[in-house]
Amino acid sequence: MLKGIISPVWFTDTIPSGYNTVMNTIAIIGGGASGLMAALFASRSGADVTLYEHNSGVGKKILASGNGRCNIINTTASADDYAGNDPHFVTYALKQLNFHYFEKFCHSIGLILDIKDDGRCYPLSNEAKSVLIALKSAVSESGTKILTDAKVIAITKDDTHFTVQTQQSKQRYSKVLIATGSEAAPQLGASAEGYRFAKSFGHEILPTYPSLVQLHLNSKNHPKMAGVKTTAEVTLIIDGKSKEKIEGDILFANYGISGLAILDISQKASYALLNKQRVSISLNLLPRYDRQTLVTIVEKLFASVPKHDVHTALCGIIPAKIATYLLEDAGIALSTTVSALNPKEIKKLSHLIGEWKFDVTDTHGFKHAEVSGGGVSTAQINNKTMESKLIKGLYFAGEVLDIVGRRGGYNFNFAWASGMIAGKEMAK
Ligand SMILES: Cc1cc2nc3c(=O)[nH]c(=O)nc-3n(C[C@H](O)[C@H](O)[C@H](O)COP(=O)(O)OP(=O)(O)OC[C@H]3O[C@@H](n4cnc5c(N)ncnc54)[C@H](O)[C@@H]3O)c2cc1C
Repeated sequence: MLKGIISPVWFTDTIPSGYNTVMNTIAIIGGGASGLMAALFASRSGADVTLYEHNSGVGKKILASGNGRCNIINTTASADDYAGNDPHFVTYALKQLNFHYFEKFCHSIGLILDIKDDGRCYPLSNEAKSVLIALKSAVSESGTKILTDAKVIAITKDDTHFTVQTQQSKQRYSKVLIATGSEAAPQLGASAEGYRFAKSFGHEILPTYPSLVQLHLNSKNHPKMAGVKTTAEVTLIIDGKSKEKIEGDILFANYGISGLAILDISQKASYALLNKQRVSISLNLLPRYDRQTLVTIVEKLFASVPKHDVHTALCGIIPAKIATYLLEDAGIALSTTVSALNPKEIKKLSHLIGEWKFDVTDTHGFKHAEVSGGGVSTAQINNKTMESKLIKGLYFAGEVLDIVGRRGGYNFNFAWASGMIAGKEMAK
Protein backbone atom coordinates (compact mmCIF):
# COMPACT_ATOMS: atom_id res chain seq x y z
CA MET A 1 0.00 0.00 0.00
CA LEU A 2 1.24 3.52 -0.77
CA LYS A 3 2.52 5.61 2.14
CA GLY A 4 -0.19 7.72 3.70
CA ILE A 5 -3.06 6.01 1.91
CA ILE A 6 -5.70 4.34 4.02
CA SER A 7 -8.24 1.94 2.61
CA PRO A 8 -11.31 3.76 1.29
CA VAL A 9 -14.27 4.20 3.63
CA TRP A 10 -17.35 4.98 1.56
CA PHE A 11 -19.56 7.78 2.73
CA THR A 12 -23.11 8.74 1.84
CA ASP A 13 -25.35 11.63 2.79
CA THR A 14 -29.11 11.09 2.68
CA ILE A 15 -31.72 13.75 3.39
CA PRO A 16 -31.84 13.98 7.19
CA SER A 17 -35.10 14.59 9.03
CA GLY A 18 -35.87 18.23 9.81
CA TYR A 19 -34.88 19.41 6.35
CA ASN A 20 -37.47 21.41 4.44
CA THR A 21 -37.40 20.15 0.88
CA VAL A 22 -40.41 22.20 -0.25
CA MET A 23 -39.98 25.75 -1.61
CA ASN A 24 -36.46 26.07 -0.23
CA THR A 25 -34.78 27.82 -3.11
CA ILE A 26 -31.15 28.69 -2.65
CA ALA A 27 -28.80 30.87 -4.70
CA ILE A 28 -25.07 30.34 -4.30
CA ILE A 29 -22.95 33.17 -5.64
CA GLY A 30 -19.51 31.85 -6.64
CA GLY A 31 -18.45 28.45 -7.93
CA GLY A 32 -15.18 28.09 -6.07
CA ALA A 33 -14.24 25.67 -3.31
CA SER A 34 -16.74 26.93 -0.74
CA GLY A 35 -19.60 27.50 -3.20
CA LEU A 36 -19.30 24.05 -4.77
CA MET A 37 -19.15 22.39 -1.36
CA ALA A 38 -22.20 24.33 -0.17
CA ALA A 39 -24.11 23.47 -3.36
CA LEU A 40 -23.39 19.79 -2.94
CA PHE A 41 -24.48 19.61 0.70
CA ALA A 42 -27.56 21.78 0.19
CA SER A 43 -28.71 19.82 -2.88
CA ARG A 44 -28.04 16.47 -1.24
CA SER A 45 -30.23 17.65 1.63
CA GLY A 46 -33.10 18.25 -0.76
CA ALA A 47 -32.93 21.99 -1.47
CA ASP A 48 -33.43 23.54 -4.90
CA VAL A 49 -30.00 25.05 -5.55
CA THR A 50 -28.77 27.39 -8.28
CA LEU A 51 -25.07 28.27 -8.42
CA TYR A 52 -23.93 31.43 -10.21
CA GLU A 53 -20.35 31.63 -11.51
CA HIS A 54 -19.11 34.54 -13.60
CA ASN A 55 -16.22 32.57 -15.15
CA SER A 56 -16.89 30.25 -18.07
CA GLY A 57 -16.29 27.33 -15.71
CA VAL A 58 -16.31 26.67 -11.98
CA GLY A 59 -13.27 26.08 -9.73
CA LYS A 60 -10.55 28.02 -11.55
CA LYS A 61 -8.57 28.50 -8.34
CA ILE A 62 -8.81 24.80 -7.55
CA LEU A 63 -7.19 24.06 -10.93
CA ALA A 64 -4.39 26.58 -10.32
CA SER A 65 -3.77 25.59 -6.73
CA GLY A 66 -0.68 23.99 -5.23
CA ASN A 67 1.28 24.50 -8.46
CA GLY A 68 -1.29 22.41 -10.29
CA ARG A 69 -1.35 19.74 -7.56
CA CYS A 70 -3.91 21.22 -5.12
CA ASN A 71 -2.88 21.08 -1.50
CA ILE A 72 -6.45 20.19 -0.66
CA ILE A 73 -6.43 20.12 3.16
CA ASN A 74 -4.13 19.80 6.14
CA THR A 75 -4.68 17.04 8.69
CA THR A 76 -3.60 19.32 11.54
CA ALA A 77 -5.66 22.49 10.97
CA SER A 78 -6.63 24.56 14.00
CA ALA A 79 -7.37 28.23 14.75
CA ASP A 80 -3.58 28.75 15.18
CA ASP A 81 -3.20 28.36 11.40
CA TYR A 82 -5.44 31.33 10.63
CA ALA A 83 -5.39 35.11 10.98
CA GLY A 84 -8.21 37.62 11.10
CA ASN A 85 -9.88 39.67 13.84
CA ASP A 86 -11.14 36.43 15.40
CA PRO A 87 -9.22 33.34 14.20
CA HIS A 88 -11.25 31.19 16.63
CA PHE A 89 -14.22 31.73 14.34
CA VAL A 90 -12.90 28.73 12.36
CA THR A 91 -12.85 26.26 15.26
CA TYR A 92 -16.43 25.01 15.01
CA ALA A 93 -16.23 24.58 11.22
CA LEU A 94 -12.92 22.71 11.43
CA LYS A 95 -14.41 20.36 14.03
CA GLN A 96 -17.44 19.64 11.82
CA LEU A 97 -15.26 18.97 8.81
CA ASN A 98 -12.33 17.33 10.56
CA PHE A 99 -9.79 15.50 8.48
CA HIS A 100 -11.36 12.08 9.02
CA TYR A 101 -14.76 13.34 7.85
CA PHE A 102 -13.21 15.11 4.85
CA GLU A 103 -11.32 12.01 3.79
CA LYS A 104 -14.52 9.95 3.89
CA PHE A 105 -16.26 12.68 1.93
CA CYS A 106 -13.48 12.62 -0.69
CA HIS A 107 -13.81 8.86 -1.01
CA SER A 108 -17.55 9.26 -1.52
CA ILE A 109 -16.96 11.47 -4.55
CA GLY A 110 -14.21 9.22 -5.93
CA LEU A 111 -11.14 11.11 -4.74
CA ILE A 112 -8.30 9.41 -2.89
CA LEU A 113 -5.86 11.53 -0.91
CA ASP A 114 -2.11 11.30 -0.60
CA ILE A 115 -1.24 12.34 2.95
CA LYS A 116 2.24 13.75 3.53
CA ASP A 117 4.19 13.49 6.80
CA ASP A 118 3.67 17.20 7.58
CA GLY A 119 -0.12 16.92 7.26
CA ARG A 120 -0.46 18.35 3.77
CA CYS A 121 -2.77 16.36 1.52
CA TYR A 122 -2.91 16.17 -2.25
CA PRO A 123 -5.05 14.11 -4.61
CA LEU A 124 -3.37 10.76 -5.23
CA SER A 125 -3.23 11.65 -8.93
CA ASN A 126 -1.02 14.62 -7.92
CA GLU A 127 -3.20 16.68 -10.25
CA ALA A 128 -5.53 19.49 -9.15
CA LYS A 129 -7.79 18.60 -12.07
CA SER A 130 -8.84 15.39 -10.25
CA VAL A 131 -10.25 17.45 -7.40
CA LEU A 132 -12.34 19.61 -9.70
CA ILE A 133 -13.52 16.68 -11.83
CA ALA A 134 -14.68 14.74 -8.75
CA LEU A 135 -16.34 17.73 -7.12
CA LYS A 136 -18.01 18.92 -10.30
CA SER A 137 -19.47 15.50 -11.06
CA ALA A 138 -20.80 15.20 -7.52
CA VAL A 139 -22.37 18.68 -7.69
CA SER A 140 -23.94 17.98 -11.08
CA GLU A 141 -25.32 14.63 -9.86
CA SER A 142 -26.77 16.34 -6.78
CA GLY A 143 -29.18 18.31 -8.96
CA THR A 144 -27.61 21.76 -8.49
CA LYS A 145 -28.22 24.02 -11.47
CA ILE A 146 -24.84 25.48 -12.41
CA LEU A 147 -24.99 28.76 -14.35
CA THR A 148 -21.63 29.81 -15.80
CA ASP A 149 -20.83 33.15 -17.47
CA ALA A 150 -23.38 34.40 -14.95
CA LYS A 151 -22.05 37.44 -13.13
CA VAL A 152 -24.24 38.48 -10.24
CA ILE A 153 -24.47 42.26 -10.19
CA ALA A 154 -26.92 42.86 -7.35
CA ILE A 155 -28.63 41.06 -4.48
CA THR A 156 -31.62 42.64 -2.75
CA LYS A 157 -34.18 41.46 -0.21
CA ASP A 158 -37.87 42.17 0.38
CA ASP A 159 -39.91 40.86 3.32
CA THR A 160 -39.68 37.22 2.34
CA HIS A 161 -37.28 36.70 -0.54
CA PHE A 162 -33.95 37.67 -2.03
CA THR A 163 -33.63 38.79 -5.65
CA VAL A 164 -30.42 37.84 -7.41
CA GLN A 165 -29.74 39.87 -10.51
CA THR A 166 -27.36 39.13 -13.39
CA GLN A 167 -27.13 41.08 -16.63
CA GLN A 168 -29.55 38.59 -18.20
CA SER A 169 -31.97 37.71 -15.41
CA LYS A 170 -33.61 38.40 -12.05
CA GLN A 171 -34.57 35.43 -9.87
CA ARG A 172 -36.10 35.13 -6.42
CA TYR A 173 -34.75 32.79 -3.73
CA SER A 174 -35.49 32.06 -0.10
CA LYS A 175 -31.79 32.00 0.85
CA VAL A 176 -28.53 33.29 -0.59
CA LEU A 177 -24.92 32.28 0.04
CA ILE A 178 -22.15 34.73 -0.80
CA ALA A 179 -19.14 32.55 -1.68
CA THR A 180 -17.40 34.98 -4.02
CA GLY A 181 -13.91 34.57 -2.55
CA SER A 182 -11.41 37.39 -2.25
CA GLU A 183 -9.59 39.80 -4.56
CA ALA A 184 -6.48 37.59 -4.76
CA ALA A 185 -5.60 36.44 -8.29
CA PRO A 186 -8.13 38.46 -10.35
CA GLN A 187 -6.83 36.72 -13.49
CA LEU A 188 -8.65 33.62 -12.14
CA GLY A 189 -11.93 35.48 -11.69
CA ALA A 190 -11.41 36.89 -8.21
CA SER A 191 -13.38 40.01 -7.46
CA ALA A 192 -14.32 42.30 -4.60
CA GLU A 193 -18.00 41.91 -5.47
CA GLY A 194 -18.77 39.87 -2.38
CA TYR A 195 -17.69 42.75 -0.16
CA ARG A 196 -19.96 45.10 -2.08
CA PHE A 197 -22.95 42.76 -1.66
CA ALA A 198 -22.19 42.29 2.05
CA LYS A 199 -21.86 46.04 2.56
CA SER A 200 -25.20 46.65 0.88
CA PHE A 201 -26.76 44.51 3.64
CA GLY A 202 -25.01 46.53 6.36
CA HIS A 203 -22.07 44.21 6.95
CA GLU A 204 -18.72 45.59 8.09
CA ILE A 205 -15.79 44.93 5.72
CA LEU A 206 -12.33 44.88 7.27
CA PRO A 207 -9.61 46.35 5.03
CA THR A 208 -8.24 43.71 2.68
CA TYR A 209 -4.58 43.00 1.96
CA PRO A 210 -2.69 40.46 -0.20
CA SER A 211 -1.28 37.42 1.60
CA LEU A 212 0.92 34.47 0.57
CA VAL A 213 2.57 36.98 -1.69
CA GLN A 214 6.03 38.17 -2.75
CA LEU A 215 7.54 41.31 -1.23
CA HIS A 216 9.03 44.48 -2.72
CA LEU A 217 12.38 45.60 -1.30
CA ASN A 218 14.00 48.96 -1.04
CA SER A 219 17.54 48.19 -2.18
CA LYS A 220 19.45 49.02 -5.31
CA ASN A 221 20.97 45.54 -5.50
CA HIS A 222 18.08 43.07 -5.41
CA PRO A 223 17.33 43.47 -9.16
CA LYS A 224 20.97 42.59 -9.88
CA MET A 225 20.51 39.34 -7.93
CA ALA A 226 17.27 38.49 -9.76
CA GLY A 227 17.02 34.75 -10.30
CA VAL A 228 19.37 33.80 -7.45
CA LYS A 229 17.81 31.19 -5.20
CA THR A 230 19.13 29.96 -1.88
CA THR A 231 17.98 28.72 1.52
CA ALA A 232 17.89 31.21 4.36
CA GLU A 233 16.29 31.92 7.67
CA VAL A 234 14.08 34.96 7.18
CA THR A 235 13.28 37.13 10.17
CA LEU A 236 10.35 39.50 9.84
CA ILE A 237 10.90 42.76 11.68
CA ILE A 238 7.99 45.12 12.34
CA ASP A 239 8.64 48.54 13.85
CA GLY A 240 12.09 47.32 14.92
CA LYS A 241 10.80 44.17 16.65
CA SER A 242 11.43 40.62 15.47
CA LYS A 243 8.02 38.99 14.84
CA GLU A 244 8.57 35.71 13.02
CA LYS A 245 11.45 33.50 11.82
CA ILE A 246 10.99 31.06 8.95
CA GLU A 247 13.66 28.92 7.26
CA GLY A 248 13.16 28.03 3.62
CA ASP A 249 13.80 28.97 0.02
CA ILE A 250 14.23 32.58 -0.99
CA LEU A 251 14.47 33.87 -4.55
CA PHE A 252 15.59 37.38 -5.49
CA ALA A 253 13.55 39.06 -8.22
CA ASN A 254 13.44 42.36 -10.10
CA TYR A 255 10.73 43.67 -7.79
CA GLY A 256 12.18 42.28 -4.56
CA ILE A 257 12.06 38.80 -3.12
CA SER A 258 9.96 35.65 -3.34
CA GLY A 259 10.28 31.99 -2.30
CA LEU A 260 8.39 29.84 0.19
CA ALA A 261 9.96 31.43 3.29
CA ILE A 262 8.85 34.85 2.04
CA LEU A 263 5.29 33.67 1.30
CA ASP A 264 5.19 32.26 4.82
CA ILE A 265 5.99 35.60 6.48
CA SER A 266 3.95 37.62 4.01
CA GLN A 267 0.64 37.67 5.88
CA LYS A 268 2.11 39.47 8.88
CA ALA A 269 4.29 41.69 6.64
CA SER A 270 1.36 42.69 4.45
CA TYR A 271 -0.91 43.37 7.42
CA ALA A 272 1.79 45.58 8.99
CA LEU A 273 2.22 47.49 5.72
CA LEU A 274 -1.54 48.01 5.59
CA ASN A 275 -1.29 49.55 9.05
CA LYS A 276 1.59 51.81 7.94
CA GLN A 277 4.14 50.06 10.16
CA ARG A 278 7.85 49.85 9.29
CA VAL A 279 8.61 46.43 7.81
CA SER A 280 11.99 44.88 7.12
CA ILE A 281 13.45 41.41 6.74
CA SER A 282 16.75 40.03 7.87
CA LEU A 283 18.30 37.10 5.99
CA ASN A 284 20.55 34.56 7.67
CA LEU A 285 22.29 32.95 4.71
CA LEU A 286 23.82 30.16 6.79
CA PRO A 287 21.04 29.43 9.29
CA ARG A 288 22.50 26.23 10.66
CA TYR A 289 25.28 28.13 12.48
CA ASP A 290 25.00 30.46 15.47
CA ARG A 291 26.65 33.88 15.36
CA GLN A 292 29.96 32.82 16.98
CA THR A 293 30.29 29.64 14.89
CA LEU A 294 29.68 31.70 11.77
CA VAL A 295 32.57 34.03 12.62
CA THR A 296 34.82 30.99 13.24
CA ILE A 297 33.80 29.44 9.91
CA VAL A 298 34.55 32.62 7.97
CA GLU A 299 37.89 33.03 9.80
CA LYS A 300 38.83 29.42 9.00
CA LEU A 301 37.79 29.82 5.37
CA PHE A 302 39.86 32.98 4.98
CA ALA A 303 42.84 31.41 6.79
CA SER A 304 42.88 28.55 4.29
CA VAL A 305 42.90 30.82 1.19
CA PRO A 306 44.80 33.98 2.25
CA LYS A 307 45.89 34.80 -1.30
CA HIS A 308 42.41 34.66 -2.83
CA ASP A 309 40.40 37.78 -3.42
CA VAL A 310 37.60 38.01 -0.86
CA HIS A 311 34.82 37.46 -3.44
CA THR A 312 36.35 34.19 -4.63
CA ALA A 313 36.77 33.09 -1.02
CA LEU A 314 33.17 33.86 -0.09
CA CYS A 315 31.93 31.83 -3.07
CA GLY A 316 32.96 28.79 -1.03
CA ILE A 317 30.05 29.35 1.34
CA ILE A 318 27.40 31.54 -0.34
CA PRO A 319 26.13 32.00 -3.94
CA ALA A 320 28.49 34.12 -6.06
CA LYS A 321 26.03 36.90 -6.94
CA ILE A 322 24.97 37.25 -3.33
CA ALA A 323 28.67 37.46 -2.34
CA THR A 324 29.11 40.37 -4.78
CA TYR A 325 26.40 42.53 -3.25
CA LEU A 326 27.05 41.46 0.32
CA LEU A 327 30.62 42.77 -0.12
CA GLU A 328 29.24 45.97 -1.63
CA ASP A 329 26.97 46.45 1.41
CA ALA A 330 29.96 45.78 3.69
CA GLY A 331 31.95 48.44 1.81
CA ILE A 332 34.72 45.97 0.89
CA ALA A 333 36.11 45.84 -2.66
CA LEU A 334 35.64 42.44 -4.33
CA SER A 335 39.29 42.34 -5.33
CA THR A 336 40.61 42.80 -1.79
CA THR A 337 43.06 40.04 -0.94
CA VAL A 338 41.80 37.95 1.98
CA SER A 339 45.06 38.45 3.94
CA ALA A 340 44.53 42.23 3.70
CA LEU A 341 41.20 42.10 5.61
CA ASN A 342 41.35 43.29 9.20
CA PRO A 343 39.46 41.44 12.04
CA LYS A 344 36.78 44.16 12.10
CA GLU A 345 36.03 43.62 8.40
CA ILE A 346 35.90 39.84 8.86
CA LYS A 347 33.44 40.29 11.74
CA LYS A 348 31.35 42.68 9.67
CA LEU A 349 31.14 40.17 6.81
CA SER A 350 30.24 37.30 9.13
CA HIS A 351 27.63 39.51 10.73
CA LEU A 352 26.08 40.38 7.33
CA ILE A 353 25.97 36.71 6.29
CA GLY A 354 23.92 36.01 9.42
CA GLU A 355 21.86 39.20 9.38
CA TRP A 356 21.48 40.87 5.97
CA LYS A 357 18.72 43.47 6.30
CA PHE A 358 16.35 44.82 3.65
CA ASP A 359 13.50 47.28 4.02
CA VAL A 360 10.16 46.04 2.67
CA THR A 361 8.18 48.72 0.84
CA ASP A 362 5.16 46.83 -0.47
CA THR A 363 3.79 43.45 -1.47
CA HIS A 364 3.67 42.26 -5.07
CA GLY A 365 -0.10 42.88 -5.00
CA PHE A 366 -3.37 40.98 -5.27
CA LYS A 367 -2.55 39.83 -8.78
CA HIS A 368 0.28 37.68 -7.46
CA ALA A 369 -1.19 36.79 -4.07
CA GLU A 370 -2.69 33.36 -3.36
CA VAL A 371 -5.12 34.70 -0.79
CA SER A 372 -6.34 37.88 0.84
CA GLY A 373 -6.63 38.90 4.47
CA GLY A 374 -9.49 41.06 5.71
CA GLY A 375 -13.03 40.89 4.33
CA VAL A 376 -16.49 40.43 5.80
CA SER A 377 -16.27 40.80 9.59
CA THR A 378 -16.86 37.46 11.31
CA ALA A 379 -18.33 39.30 14.30
CA GLN A 380 -21.57 39.61 12.32
CA ILE A 381 -21.71 35.95 11.22
CA ASN A 382 -22.88 32.96 13.25
CA ASN A 383 -19.97 30.50 13.07
CA LYS A 384 -22.21 27.48 13.69
CA THR A 385 -24.44 28.20 10.69
CA MET A 386 -22.50 30.76 8.57
CA GLU A 387 -25.69 32.85 8.54
CA SER A 388 -25.54 36.63 8.83
CA LYS A 389 -26.52 37.91 12.26
CA LEU A 390 -28.00 40.95 10.51
CA ILE A 391 -30.04 39.46 7.65
CA LYS A 392 -31.98 36.22 8.00
CA GLY A 393 -31.38 33.86 5.10
CA LEU A 394 -28.09 35.46 4.02
CA TYR A 395 -25.03 33.23 4.41
CA PHE A 396 -21.27 33.59 3.85
CA ALA A 397 -18.52 31.02 3.29
CA GLY A 398 -14.85 30.87 2.34
CA GLU A 399 -12.33 33.57 1.69
CA VAL A 400 -14.85 36.42 1.43
CA LEU A 401 -14.81 36.30 5.24
CA ASP A 402 -12.11 37.95 7.38
CA ILE A 403 -10.19 34.68 7.70
CA VAL A 404 -6.88 33.92 6.03
CA GLY A 405 -4.87 30.75 6.43
CA ARG A 406 -1.21 29.83 6.36
CA ARG A 407 0.31 28.03 3.37
CA GLY A 408 -0.25 24.28 3.57
CA GLY A 409 -3.85 23.49 2.61
CA TYR A 410 -5.42 25.61 5.36
CA ASN A 411 -7.25 28.00 3.03
CA PHE A 412 -9.08 25.24 1.21
CA ASN A 413 -9.63 23.61 4.58
CA PHE A 414 -11.72 26.56 5.77
CA ALA A 415 -13.43 26.97 2.38
CA TRP A 416 -14.61 23.30 2.39
CA ALA A 417 -15.63 23.45 6.06
CA SER A 418 -17.53 26.75 5.94
CA GLY A 419 -19.13 25.78 2.60
CA MET A 420 -20.33 22.48 4.00
CA ILE A 421 -21.86 24.10 7.07
CA ALA A 422 -23.58 26.81 5.03
CA GLY A 423 -24.94 24.21 2.58
CA LYS A 424 -26.37 22.00 5.31
CA GLU A 425 -27.81 24.91 7.26
CA MET A 426 -29.41 26.59 4.24
CA ALA A 427 -31.15 23.35 3.38
CA LYS A 428 -32.83 23.20 6.79
C1 LIG B 1 -2.44 30.33 -7.45
C2 LIG B 1 -3.16 29.88 -6.21
C3 LIG B 1 -2.78 28.70 -5.59
C4 LIG B 1 -3.44 28.29 -4.41
N1 LIG B 1 -3.09 27.09 -3.84
C5 LIG B 1 -3.71 26.68 -2.71
C6 LIG B 1 -3.42 25.39 -2.13
O1 LIG B 1 -2.67 24.59 -2.70
N2 LIG B 1 -4.04 25.09 -0.96
C7 LIG B 1 -4.94 25.93 -0.32
O2 LIG B 1 -5.45 25.59 0.73
N3 LIG B 1 -5.27 27.11 -0.89
C8 LIG B 1 -4.69 27.50 -2.06
N4 LIG B 1 -5.05 28.69 -2.63
C9 LIG B 1 -6.12 29.48 -1.99
C10 LIG B 1 -7.50 28.89 -2.34
O3 LIG B 1 -7.58 28.74 -3.75
C11 LIG B 1 -8.62 29.80 -1.86
O4 LIG B 1 -8.45 30.05 -0.48
C12 LIG B 1 -9.98 29.14 -2.08
O5 LIG B 1 -10.17 28.92 -3.46
C13 LIG B 1 -11.10 30.01 -1.53
O6 LIG B 1 -12.33 29.44 -1.89
P1 LIG B 1 -13.62 30.35 -2.07
O7 LIG B 1 -14.71 29.46 -2.47
O8 LIG B 1 -13.80 31.19 -0.87
O9 LIG B 1 -13.24 31.37 -3.23
P2 LIG B 1 -12.87 31.08 -4.76
O10 LIG B 1 -12.31 29.73 -4.92
O11 LIG B 1 -12.06 32.24 -5.19
O12 LIG B 1 -14.28 31.10 -5.48
C14 LIG B 1 -15.04 32.28 -5.64
C15 LIG B 1 -15.76 32.17 -6.95
O13 LIG B 1 -16.70 33.22 -7.07
C16 LIG B 1 -16.72 33.69 -8.40
N5 LIG B 1 -17.29 35.05 -8.37
C17 LIG B 1 -16.78 36.16 -7.81
N6 LIG B 1 -17.62 37.20 -7.95
C18 LIG B 1 -18.71 36.72 -8.62
C19 LIG B 1 -19.94 37.32 -9.06
N7 LIG B 1 -20.23 38.61 -8.88
N8 LIG B 1 -20.84 36.54 -9.71
C20 LIG B 1 -20.59 35.22 -9.94
N9 LIG B 1 -19.43 34.61 -9.54
C21 LIG B 1 -18.51 35.35 -8.88
C22 LIG B 1 -15.26 33.61 -8.79
O14 LIG B 1 -15.10 33.58 -10.19
C23 LIG B 1 -14.82 32.31 -8.13
O15 LIG B 1 -15.00 31.19 -8.97
C24 LIG B 1 -4.45 29.10 -3.83
C25 LIG B 1 -4.83 30.29 -4.47
C26 LIG B 1 -4.20 30.67 -5.65
C27 LIG B 1 -4.64 31.94 -6.33
